Amino acid sequence: MLRFDDAFVRSLPADPVAENSVRQVRGAAFSLVHPTPVKAPKLLAWVPKVAALLGLPEAATEEWTHVLAGNTLVHGMKPYAAAYGGHQFGNWAGQLGDGRAITLAEVLAPGGRFELQLKGAGPTPYSRRADGRAVLRSSLRELVCSEAMFHLGVPTTRALALVATGEPVERDLLYDGNPRHEPGAITTRVAPSFLRFGTFELPASRNDVGLLKELVDFTLTEHFTSLGPPSREAYVRLFEEVVRRTAVLVMEWQRVGFVHGVMNTDNMSILGLTIDYGPYGWLEGFDPDWTPNTTDLPGRRYAFGNQPSVAQWNLMCLANALYPLVNDEAPLAAALDAFADLAASQQLSTTRAKLGLSPLESRDDADRALLRGLFTALMTTEIDMPLFFRRLADVTPVDRELADEQLVGRLTDAFYRPDEVRGEVQAGLAQWLRAYLERVAGDPLDAERRRARMNGANPLYVPRNYLAQTVIQAAEQGDLAPLHEWLTVLEHPYDEQPGRERWAGKRPEWARHQPGSSMLSCSS
Ligand code: AMP
Ligand code: MG
Repeated sequence: MLRFDDAFVRSLPADPVAENSVRQVRGAAFSLVHPTPVKAPKLLAWVPKVAALLGLPEAATEEWTHVLAGNTLVHGMKPYAAAYGGHQFGNWAGQLGDGRAITLAEVLAPGGRFELQLKGAGPTPYSRRADGRAVLRSSLRELVCSEAMFHLGVPTTRALALVATGEPVERDLLYDGNPRHEPGAITTRVAPSFLRFGTFELPASRNDVGLLKELVDFTLTEHFTSLGPPSREAYVRLFEEVVRRTAVLVMEWQRVGFVHGVMNTDNMSILGLTIDYGPYGWLEGFDPDWTPNTTDLPGRRYAFGNQPSVAQWNLMCLANALYPLVNDEAPLAAALDAFADLAASQQLSTTRAKLGLSPLESRDDADRALLRGLFTALMTTEIDMPLFFRRLADVTPVDRELADEQLVGRLTDAFYRPDEVRGEVQAGLAQWLRAYLERVAGDPLDAERRRARMNGANPLYVPRNYLAQTVIQAAEQGDLAPLHEWLTVLEHPYDEQPGRERWAGKRPEWARHQPGSSMLSCSS
């Protein structure tokens, strides 16, 4: 028997208009709205570990398939869509809100309190000009990546299930005027809360300080109990904590090579979780300028290397939104300024783990220089980030004796254009490797522990875009075996899994320019 507790609905003001029509919703945190039933629900994936977290059965039942398709409600559910705004690509976009997400309930579960949220369950008052639906490819990508992130140890929302709707959804994938019908699907997402920076920006933008205060007080009392009851000081502590969590989050993305793709303030979780998986991507060739999102190509605002500074910019928007409750700029500005140091120290510690180095304070400056050298070396030719770090763990100080060609040759697996790794490129890589191995030789960690530390920080299996594409194509043809195998592989991203090498392979040439593999759009 599930236990529900509708804290959000109970504590915060509801939209007084009951009709499910697109409109501006003022003075309310959410609108009560039911999912729109679908024709032929079919369960495509069920994540037993998330089910266990919620106290649900290990295998999906017929009843739950219908609930997660939006066709029936369990007694006690009060479904709603939340109101929020956001800065999109740097510009204030006004009211956005859950245009296709509907929270069914808050579950009081053995593993804590969780929102159970459907994504793609039909229109809400926040759907603007869109249909409230989601296509199979994007729903599958969200399910897989959020679970992968969890097993990588990166803060994230989770996913319980993927249900096909049996209804087609029209999408223009390349935004080139050629829409096509694609199968529709709904992901069930699970998180303690889906509150976003934009949740607070919306009432602040409307000078609705009363609603803003209710939302912030709710956040403090429900989700940040350790920060004390609402007060000006607690609001500042809340902001400091969000800054800290966001710095950790974004540097964890850098560690594993994740590019969110749409870091708008409406896609930034107040809990410091990765949320809203859309046109995200995983770095293969190491390139700080790379963005998976075609919509982002002109400015590359959300490129890999920009993620830390964008996170800080987004935090500035949050600080502005909280300002009316604090009425003092200094503590908010100080907390925002602390972001750079937090991110830098987080980067130093994660990169040391990636390189298998002990945190020696006397080495801070030298290690930072080693890092800068690494980033430069990684860009001299196209180098696969996951494979590079895995192969690096197998290189040892005795390899310093090798000639450049043999030394650099230890990493050949990671090179996309091995014939390019000659002359200066080879010499540059060899020079960095020797400096690095010198440092390793002087480190107190023994060889075995070093390798374990590195392999524990450098995932072998990440949801590479081309793999997603092949899994999606199979699922669209009705073959779910690759999806299920992939989900199993991604449960142990740091462990070698003999026989499953194909899930770790670097991007094949055919995928270099293929939509879905190298180019993704917001069309989902
Ligand atoms: P995103 O950038 O994907 O996080 O979405 C930005 C806003 O657009 C959010 O308010 C979404 O709810 C909304 N949205 C995106 N796709 C749809 C859709 N198919 N139907 C309704 N709203 C949507
Ligand atoms: Mg979003």
